[in-house]
Amino acid sequence: MKSVPTQADFARREREFRHRAFPAATAADWEDWRWQLRHRARTATAVARVLALSPRERRALAAPDAWRMPLAIPPYLLGLLAAEAPDGPLHRTLLPDRREARIAPGELRDPLGEEAHQVAPGLIRSYPHKALLLATADCASFCRYCTRARTAGRAGADLAAALAWLRAHPEIRDVLVSGGDPLTLGDAHLERLLRALRDIPHVELIRIGTKIPAALPQRVTPALAKLLKKFRPLWLSLHFTHPAELTPRAAAACGRLLDAGIPLMNQTVLLRGVNDDLDTMLALNEGLLRLGVKPYYLHHGDLAAGTAHLRSTVARGRAILRAMCGRTTGYAVPHFMFDRPGGGGKVPLGPAWTSS
Ligand code: SF4
Repeated sequence: MKSVPTQADFARREREFRHRAFPAATAADWEDWRWQLRHRARTATAVARVLALSPRERRALAAPDAWRMPLAIPPYLLGLLAAEAPDGPLHRTLLPDRREARIAPGELRDPLGEEAHQVAPGLIRSYPHKALLLATADCASFCRYCTRARTAGRAGADLAAALAWLRAHPEIRDVLVSGGDPLTLGDAHLERLLRALRDIPHVELIRIGTKIPAALPQRVTPALAKLLKKFRPLWLSLHFTHPAELTPRAAAACGRLLDAGIPLMNQTVLLRGVNDDLDTMLALNEGLLRLGVKPYYLHHGDLAAGTAHLRSTVARGRAILRAMCGRTTGYAVPHFMFDRPGGGGKVPLGPAWTSS
């Protein structure tokens, strides 16, 4: 099984990539999350300049009108993509595919019916006791299978209106701050938001959904960890999808959050040709445990428009989980879940020992 590359190997590989792909960037630039966000690859030209690509990938990049959502890949992640072959698993999660333009039967632009459950701009009442706050529409990188492709890169929540609604609804005890990725916000903005939520007496549970430790671990600065620590109990839902994301930088980011007393859970999507095989799922989930992250949910792909080529099958997910049981610690086996279309909530899918 693959493990996290050694610090020395990873640092050498990253330095070589920086010198080749971003020769003007200093080591300090590379460590700076704002520099990373400013230098995201957003066009076919920016990607082709630094990555070897397959003909399929080149064709998809040349047809931006067919993309289901914008393209954005920070230099740190480009370095991980450069370490794998064209059409590799991380390429599939981050580079567009011409099949994104095909809408399969049953697929929806808003697969979870969030617009129908919106109670203020960017605030969705997902369950009677729970609300989802879309704090921003930006992410460090955009995943091609994202449920919220419809909002990617657009305006986020009207925070004043969302907070006012939450204050007026004492039945809401659980707020998931998501997006977009809330950790792309600056520290001051994030602190104001968390303070406002913490000051609502009936909001008992605050969670943040973020891909930052996988996509831009430089964002997890000591200052950010200190800020988050002030608002404990605070839980982070991470989003690692493949063991190649478990780099020493990601490990350091998770370590910093754990040192601040923030529990870390991971949610992954079962993706065709990315992680829908036993070895990859074992390496991902055992690797997460080594970083101190609990593999929590494995999602069967939502019926998001233009994602059929990335959606694996329920049978395959169940078979992988059945094979994991008894082969690894139970802590490494996530719950296999499906979010019902239209906002009906999550249902468990198994592993289902008696049928497939
Ligand atoms: S990080 Fe999350 S919200 Fe952002 S594009 Fe990926 S799946 Fe969507």
